[in-house]
Amino acid sequence: MGYQLHIADRSRIGSVDFDRLRFGEVFSDHMAEQLYADGAWGEGLIKPFGEISLTPAASIFHYGQGIFEGLKAFRYADGRINVFRPDLHYRRFVRSAERMHMPPLAEADWYASIEGVLKQDAAWVPKATYKSYYMRPFMIATEQVLGVRPARRYRYYMMGGPVGDYYSEGVRPVKLTTMPENARSMPGGTGSAKTLANYAIAMMPSQKAMALGYTQVLWLDATERRWVEEVGTSNIFFVIDGLLVTPPLGDTILAGVTRHSTLELARAWDMPVVERPISIDEVLEAGRSGALSEAFATGTAAVVSPIGHIHHAGRTLDLDHDRMGPVAARFHKAITDIHHGLAPDPGGWCHLI
Ligand SMILES: *Cc1c(COP(=O)(O)O)cnc(C)c1O
Repeated sequence: MGYQLHIADRSRIGSVDFDRLRFGEVFSDHMAEQLYADGAWGEGLIKPFGEISLTPAASIFHYGQGIFEGLKAFRYADGRINVFRPDLHYRRFVRSAERMHMPPLAEADWYASIEGVLKQDAAWVPKATYKSYYMRPFMIATEQVLGVRPARRYRYYMMGGPVGDYYSEGVRPVKLTTMPENARSMPGGTGSAKTLANYAIAMMPSQKAMALGYTQVLWLDATERRWVEEVGTSNIFFVIDGLLVTPPLGDTILAGVTRHSTLELARAWDMPVVERPISIDEVLEAGRSGALSEAFATGTAAVVSPIGHIHHAGRTLDLDHDRMGPVAARFHKAITDIHHGLAPDPGGWCHLI
């Protein structure tokens, strides 16, 4: 089904300072909207970005039945716009919808919403390398009902805006602490879905970590509080004796597209890599013995973030560098080069508009 078009009367782009972009504060002129009722998705609409109106009894406000995605578009030097791996983001959106008992969006509507907004707002995709246009598709339950049951009405939106270079002020390795008294995700729960509650649940522990001087929480598993799972809202990698190690996916870890790309590149480079459970004790011990040379987090926002310090239950590990380690830097450069068309597409990673 196609997307109808309502064009904004005037653009707001003149009021935006592209040299001082903060993450997720500026949105471009248009957004996509599509409504679900009576068992089917209606016609999509590209319309001016702005406030939306919902009944206060909409189930999203009470029970949080909602999901989202986060992906980016980049500008090639020749002016073309590249959306990075929208197929993988679509598949994850559908998996999140299934877990939250929400209706899947058709793949054609996914692409129509992304392309429809980007075609109207192409001027909003920054031209500088390492800047990008961050896209936030999301779906919410909008039926007016306070009974606790899956809603019968939903809305899908796709909005986005320009974001700056994450490392414009230099690389600052993150300082992590575990929060053994809290958990983000449990077996059988929703940790592998991009659903609202997973982020609300993490706010209090991450504020506690920040008050103690840490950048983010290093999440351990909820059952034994022993196995390393994720960093804030990123996946985690270690380099131990030259081997790239990352925890295996399951229903407690979010399957990052950047994690997936990192593993695909490592395998293409014949870098030794293993997905296996890794305990916080093993990490600290490998740090103490010198076997652990690097740790880094992966996600769409920063691509690769080096980890400089880990604290757990009174024990600490310092990875004494003020820069990205060579392995993290190699992934960061390879992925950002693919984003901006400076390196060949490894195969279906780049969706050109
Ligand atoms: C989105 C997210 C990630 C990273 O996924 P990418 O697709 O690489 O951006 C990792 N962990 C959590 C909890 C997330 O929400």
